[in-house]
Amino acid sequence: MALSVGLTGGIASGKSTVLAMLAERGARTVSADGIVHRLLAESLDLKDAVCRAFGQAVLDQDGAVDRAALAKVVFSDETRRKRLEALVHPLVRSEVESWLAEDTGIRTINVAEIPLLFETGSSYSFDLTVVVWTQQNLQLRRLQNKYLDPVEAQSRIAAQMSLDEKAVRADFVVHNCAGLAELSAETDKLWVFLTERLTAKDRGLQTRK
Ligand code: ATP
Repeated sequence: MALSVGLTGGIASGKSTVLAMLAERGARTVSADGIVHRLLAESLDLKDAVCRAFGQAVLDQDGAVDRAALAKVVFSDETRRKRLEALVHPLVRSEVESWLAEDTGIRTINVAEIPLLFETGSSYSFDLTVVVWTQQNLQLRRLQNKYLDPVEAQSRIAAQMSLDEKAVRADFVVHNCAGLAELSAETDKLWVFLTERLTAKDRGLQTRK
């Protein structure tokens, strides 16, 4: 028996950090961003489609997709961003669904980190959804640590559904407004919740609250 969990949040809200902490506690994990990075590197069809949509400027000197250049092109223009999402999301969805369908042969908590879980209507593929919530000033600070200028950081945050709206939709909210030790304690609470929900599913009870 397995429990499937869609993990999301805002940009730089701490999704990947929580995903890694869940893996340490025994979850089986996958990241949509990781899938996109792999597909952009490996899928010639996707690379060609991206090139046709956004031009040669998104390729680096070796002819590979330059993800930073691509991000700059799409985050400054909503139509382009939606075009990239339309190319990438069906592929990610199908990869995640195959991953969820793999039989590990043991009781498993499968957690997929999907930044646009709610925006793409993917939340219904999961037993439960979890949102990593933080304050916008912390998001901006963490984004700037990744060398994004404040205007670009703000525009990336504005391009997504608000974190408050995501939190309302989630079955569980992880608060990430303090240090890593506090986040680890929050993840412990999440882990207890998930193991209880897995037991409920084993007994044929509903997983959602
Ligand atoms: P992205 O939207 O870029 O995928 P994300 O939501 O996955 O980001 P992380 O990569 O987990 O966020 O966190 C962003 C940055 O903030 C990382 O450098 C991470 O180490 C740091 N960070 C996250 N939470 C905390 C915290 N509670 N204390 C200190 N640093 C943190």
